[in-house]
Amino acid sequence: MYRENAEKLLDFIQKSPTAFHAVEEMSLRFRQEGFEELKENTPWNLKKGGRYFVTRNHSALIAFSVPETDVRKFHIIASHSDSPTFKIKENPEILSDNVYVKLNVEKYGGMICAPWVDRPLSVAGRLVVKENGNLIEKLVRIDRDLLLIPSLAIHMNRSVNEGVAYNVQKDLLPLYGGEEAKDTFMKLVADAAGVTEEDILGHDLFLYSRTPGAIWGAEEEFISSGRLDDLQCAFSSMEGLLEGTHKESIAVHCVLDNEEVGSGSRQGAASTFLKDTLWRINAGLGRSYEEYLMTLAESFCISADNAHSVHPNYLDKADPVNHPVMNKGIVIKYNADQKYCTDAFSAAVFKDICKDADVPFQTFVNRSDMAGGSTLGNISITQVAVPTVDIGLPQLGMHSPYETAGVKDTAYFIKAAKEFFR
Ligand code: ZN
Repeated sequence: MYRENAEKLLDFIQKSPTAFHAVEEMSLRFRQEGFEELKENTPWNLKKGGRYFVTRNHSALIAFSVPETDVRKFHIIASHSDSPTFKIKENPEILSDNVYVKLNVEKYGGMICAPWVDRPLSVAGRLVVKENGNLIEKLVRIDRDLLLIPSLAIHMNRSVNEGVAYNVQKDLLPLYGGEEAKDTFMKLVADAAGVTEEDILGHDLFLYSRTPGAIWGAEEEFISSGRLDDLQCAFSSMEGLLEGTHKESIAVHCVLDNEEVGSGSRQGAASTFLKDTLWRINAGLGRSYEEYLMTLAESFCISADNAHSVHPNYLDKADPVNHPVMNKGIVIKYNADQKYCTDAFSAAVFKDICKDADVPFQTFVNRSDMAGGSTLGNISITQVAVPTVDIGLPQLGMHSPYETAGVKDTAYFIKAAKEFFR
């Protein structure tokens, strides 16, 4: 069961080089499973026993299942579709010394820069093109080794092993080709999308790592790949929804975009996407605004974003007592300043779910002299104020293009999500 889920996760990540592709993959899966697609710009007529999904910006998705009976609470799992990477700028080509073409990129989110260097990369994202007088979106992925950011030789930087301060504009522009490659990049992208270069009126294109995921370790207990943060949680939440029986709550699988840049977009946790969707579910079932607020008061949210395992080489970076370990279960995150929403009540609810699902859990708190990261929960709660617990799956190397997690933990979260969505 563990290995099978880990392989399915790697397959999902492999097909999801960007948030757009992750949402496309999930949409395909939900359609296959008989979920009906709703559009934000048309009316929703919902039925008891119905299963639906809706997307926003093609980079965030909410799928939900309405019980047959008159149940009035939402059970929500929220995760995110984006990961730190590099975005390709407008007019992307730069000719270097008239002999090389490199691409002009900027940072998206807070990545560890070094591991992006010296590994094969490519480009994926979405285009907006004019076809038959209409503006339409096209996903694009160049499915071959196309780019690489070469490091500077140690002979030209003798202090390289004492640490490098990367300047994106100077140090991290990927090499695309020799001088013959001049003026071909956007044509290559257009060809990959099956459109003409002139028809491309807009693009959101990102670098992605070509290094395939791996399952490794003495007992094959570890899984490594890009984008484990947060597709490991998004995938587990999706599987949990598909396996759950949805009798005791309106089950909501919510994957938001732009977490890595603060969530303040039309499709991020600070947006109205979740609130609008919950409200429309309520209205679509013929219920009043007061009934909506009453339903929220009975609801619960699991904010699922990956967590830090204690690092074998840096024990001193962890809290002296709370040491999450890969393959030892779901991590409940605590922070007194409410960067994490977990409190006594929401922790108790979540531990109870884990116990019912027979799934192990552990606890994470930052060292008291170290600021932690931020996540979705305390941002989405400003829009949808339901009791929320912050959790994640333990991993190493967060925000590297090659992160590491435990093979067992995906299956643990699927089991807990299924229990939550029962
Ligand atoms: Zn994350």
